[in-house]
Amino acid sequence: MISVSEALDALFALANPLDIETVPLSDSAGRVLAVSAVAERDQPPFPASAMDGYALNSAGAVTGASYQVIGESAAGHGYNAPVPTGACVRIFTGAPVPASCDRIIIQEDVDRSGDTITLKDNLDSKYYVRAKGFDFTYGQTYDAPKLLGPNDVALLAAMNVPQVRVYRKPIVALISTGDELVMPGETPNPDQIIASNTFGLAAMLREIGARVRVLPIARDTLQSLEQAFSLAKGADVVVTIGGASVGDHDLVAQAAEKHGVQRQFYKVAMRPGKPLMAGRLGDAMMIGLPGNPVSAMVCGKIFLTPVIRALQGLPKHPVPRLRAKLSHPIAQNGGREHYMRAVYENGTVRVFERQDSALLSVLAASNALIVRATHATALEAGAEEDVILL
Ligand code: AMP
Ligand code: MG
Repeated sequence: MISVSEALDALFALANPLDIETVPLSDSAGRVLAVSAVAERDQPPFPASAMDGYALNSAGAVTGASYQVIGESAAGHGYNAPVPTGACVRIFTGAPVPASCDRIIIQEDVDRSGDTITLKDNLDSKYYVRAKGFDFTYGQTYDAPKLLGPNDVALLAAMNVPQVRVYRKPIVALISTGDELVMPGETPNPDQIIASNTFGLAAMLREIGARVRVLPIARDTLQSLEQAFSLAKGADVVVTIGGASVGDHDLVAQAAEKHGVQRQFYKVAMRPGKPLMAGRLGDAMMIGLPGNPVSAMVCGKIFLTPVIRALQGLPKHPVPRLRAKLSHPIAQNGGREHYMRAVYENGTVRVFERQDSALLSVLAASNALIVRATHATALEAGAEEDVILL
């Protein structure tokens, strides 16, 4: 058996960034920028007003001074003529500040009568001019690799970047195995159950930008499993679920080997999820997850999601953790790292009493896992422990 971090390192060694492709900016959210983007312009491209008011030259702009309003500068319609001493221009937020002006007097700070304004008492001391390039400047880079979210898309759009270079989406083939499984919506025989974690894993992977192919359920025969491996051709990651322990019907390892999988490891010292397998399969990688529903989902979170991120070109890091206070005491841990289902709220974490790896209802009620290191000592209420948010 190897440790969780050794297993993850072995997976990372198999997971290199995929090819790069160009996508329109409108399709880029959730993708990882592969080539740094470059601003095509200054933003703002001119000194811009930050308020509604009057643009003027700050020299002599004191309480009681009067100015002639000689024109208007609105967003998209600047005022391009000179503004002589003693004159000002009506201006609105986002509009270009005329050349000889350096200050906006907000409209609340003037008395206006016809085309004359007089500056009031207690003038706001701010100038309210956003300099040219205040947000970013021409040629400024937005560095790859970067997972693009809505805020990044907004920035890139402002930079006038209409398309971006991103890593290709990883293709993941999911193979469920077991004579007892039927698809959701089918009518199971009395001794059958519904394939569940297959759908949970597909959702988990799609959420982080993988293309998922859910293959037909493989039966517990070598022939059926080998057929499933054939159908998985073209995938970057082939994930099997179940059939990974050493029972008579656990044929995944055999089928994988027959299909050319070079096995890197087989068992990981963790709960839930000891029977975890991984190896190289041609240009792709194969990961064999345990079948127990919670084990499969927890291993998906701990192993699959960082691997998908690595294939997308992001740094090879484990799932992030935070520290939280236990709301109650917990017992010492044994020789396997334990990922316990829990609820995290406001810095405190409560661990569920029922930790059986078949309990999807408990997993669904959880929003976190606490991580108990191997041989961790018992902890009192109020002690801190590592937490992974789900
Ligand atoms: P196995 O590793 O094949 O012995 O599976 C362990 C347990 O997980 C068994 O109770 C299986 O019925 C169950 N199981 C395996 N695959 C799935 C699946 N895709 N969805 C739900 N349960 C599964
Ligand atoms: Mg099975």
